Amino acid sequence: HAKRSGDRTRFFSPSMADELYQREVLQVRFIDALARNGLSLHFQPQFCLVSGKLIGAEALCRWQDDTLGWVSPGDFIPLAEEQGLIGRLGDWVLDAACRQLERWEAQGKAFPGRLCVNVSAQQMDDPQLAEHVQRLTARVAPGRIGLELTESGLMRNPDQTVSITRALRAAGFGMAIDDFGTGYSSLTYLKRFAADTLKIDMSFVQDMLESSHDRAIVATIIAMAQTLGMRTVAEGVETHDQAEALKALGCSGVQGFYFGRPVDADSFAAHWL
Ligand code: C2E
Ligand code: CA
Ligand code: CA
Ligand code: CA
Repeated sequence: HAKRSGDRTRFFSPSMADELYQREVLQVRFIDALARNGLSLHFQPQFCLVSGKLIGAEALCRWQDDTLGWVSPGDFIPLAEEQGLIGRLGDWVLDAACRQLERWEAQGKAFPGRLCVNVSAQQMDDPQLAEHVQRLTARVAPGRIGLELTESGLMRNPDQTVSITRALRAAGFGMAIDDFGTGYSSLTYLKRFAADTLKIDMSFVQDMLESSHDRAIVATIIAMAQTLGMRTVAEGVETHDQAEALKALGCSGVQGFYFGRPVDADSFAAHWL
């Protein structure tokens, strides 16, 4: 997981020792971290490809355990989902993101655009999610928050998801479909979900210069988004050449190591605000 993670951090890997035992340890310690405020958020900047300006950031959850060290979200997010804890984690992330926006403002570090948080597919099982999100984020204007839902997550319970995403959009929240291109959503649903942004999955971005097939997928996603009046944000941009190719295809925004890695709130403010 370390390879796919945001920072240069070396993450703990459960395969280092007995899997079953480690899973139990991980589970107990995660519940503890969630209860005792042992999680944190890192922030990765997003930029406009035309103006070069900062348009927002993605908030990514981090867990540093006293003895295990950094545990990758690739390990603890699925664990939280299996344990029925993803709702609590999602609540914590939304609240922490709003508090951070307020803290930056109090420090005179105005944050432009949207702070985006990931919403797990399981959170969509709650028919009251839209009202719940509004309550949790009441301290900031909804337009300052973007919600990222994976394409595959949206298709889990598409009809309920349509009504939740519509209610959230009507309330003013930004809405992005994450990992787009990997989830087989139908074009019919794509329109009904009321998202305003498609996040192009990094697997296509990272191979688009070598593979004409992947380049065609990226071009098609961008053209489709334009037709539907949606923005595109390409993720996992690691090189100048990838950024130039995306710009030439008309992609709106970018996020990736080439522009900035996920960093803690103070580093983010020092670098970007
Ligand atoms: P994601 O939502 O697709 O987030 C993007 C991931 O790509 C992040 O990994 C980020 O650090 C990484 N990344 C960004 N730019 C680059 C790049 O240029 N190259 C490469 N190779 N990677 C890049 P991270 O932080 O390890 O998160 C992994 C996944 O865990 C996220 O994928 C998301 O699905 C999940 N996750 C993280 N935080 C949360 C959260 O608060 N709630 C939920 N439900 N899921 C979360
Ligand atoms: Ca995301
Ligand atoms: Ca993604
Ligand atoms: Ca992903």
